[in-house]
Amino acid sequence: MSFQPNSPAARDVAYFLHPYTNAKAHEEQGPMIIERGQGVYVYDDAGKAYIEAMAGLWCASLGFDEKRLVKAATAQLEKLPYYHTFAHKAHLPGIDLAEKLIQLAPVPMSKVFFCSSGSEANDTVIKLVWYYNNARGRHAKKKFISRIKGYHGVTVASASLTGTPVNHPGFDLPLAGFKHTSNPHYYRFGQEGESEEDFATRMANDLEQMILEEGPETVAAFIAEPIQGAGGVIVPPATYFEKIQAVLKKYDVLMVADEVICGFGRTGNFWGSQTVGIKPDILSCAKALSSSYLPISAVMMTDEVYQPIAQASADLGVLGHGYTYSAHPVCAAVALETLKIYEERDIVGHVQAVAPRFLERLHALGAHPLVGETRGRGLMGALEIVADKATKAPFDPKAGAGALAYKAAAEHGLIVRSIGDTIAFTPPLIINESQIDEMFDKMHKALDDALAALKKAQAA
Ligand code: PMP
Repeated sequence: MSFQPNSPAARDVAYFLHPYTNAKAHEEQGPMIIERGQGVYVYDDAGKAYIEAMAGLWCASLGFDEKRLVKAATAQLEKLPYYHTFAHKAHLPGIDLAEKLIQLAPVPMSKVFFCSSGSEANDTVIKLVWYYNNARGRHAKKKFISRIKGYHGVTVASASLTGTPVNHPGFDLPLAGFKHTSNPHYYRFGQEGESEEDFATRMANDLEQMILEEGPETVAAFIAEPIQGAGGVIVPPATYFEKIQAVLKKYDVLMVADEVICGFGRTGNFWGSQTVGIKPDILSCAKALSSSYLPISAVMMTDEVYQPIAQASADLGVLGHGYTYSAHPVCAAVALETLKIYEERDIVGHVQAVAPRFLERLHALGAHPLVGETRGRGLMGALEIVADKATKAPFDPKAGAGALAYKAAAEHGLIVRSIGDTIAFTPPLIINESQIDEMFDKMHKALDDALAALKKAQAA
């Protein structure tokens, strides 16, 4: 495609290397430029409206024009636009936010460490766990186990935790000491005649086997999203985390909950850990912490984890970790206001009120000839496109079924996410029932269009 000289599209293609984008394809097709947002809608530069069924990247929980967050940012920018929190320095937004998060934590937590992104938060988790085990004299206990298709970020160490297919090839990752255990997706990996309960037992056995093979004295922590997001919205079987945590306890392995997507109401409880029965030793969160209006993330730890870290920092003279933007005051002020809005508007209650409609409409798409499975909790859902519903056989990846549905959705004014042939939905938490209907009406049309296109391609 040729772009009008000096147009935003031409300049984008000329200068901008986009994350998670096929760079060569981008040179041809150019960008989709989003210009403004309102509620659950965003508008492109031609003025076309889209219902944003992914809240951006699973994150803009309060939609795209929450004025109170703009005010909170402006007020803090005027008062103290920046200060750091190194060397005993502090500011009120940071203190207030730390206190608030400790009050909201799903289990008693002791301290909060602030970062700017989910990746940084999980990188911090890794470093703090290593520091913790060094402090306890357990110098060999350093390995992390995550799951195939788990998503925990893209920095060198957090990308090593990540288990999705595109994050290791070409990057010389994962680093040594990062292992990936089985994925708890019953529809895909459950065996013939195996109950969900037996499947969960097998998943826990796989984990135990891995710990034993590696040597329990070398395994420090297990990290998991309560419900896997970027790996395809994988809802684990009911007893999965109970069984997993029993194994972790047995071998003195820490449980880290990655709440970057699931935190702050997404799954119908304040934390995803509450939805799936996780009792974390460490918790990372980001995204909806500030409704993503400004970048901020946090790591919370129990007192058992904090105490050896505190002692080691005293012995070494300082905790040698921290970012220029740790607890950035403007980001912290926006996060505090976000949490205030969640409380005042009872956002968890709202999610619980509209989730039945969301899930009913999602599961109804299971009747579509292209859809093999629908799955979800709260306002987090996905459908999986298959070539054969009876055998669950997927389409040849070359057919690009998921991409076809994604493109058709955009034509109908709906932004979803395609993860291979899985289509994900995590709309802003403020979505109402008629917008949920609009979202799934559009998706139904998109699936019809994708089916027609796939049939046409097969016939050709
Ligand atoms: N953890 C999870 C569960 C995520 O979904 C993501 C991002 N999608 C991350 C970590 C990484 O966050 P970031 O992109 O802010 O680095």
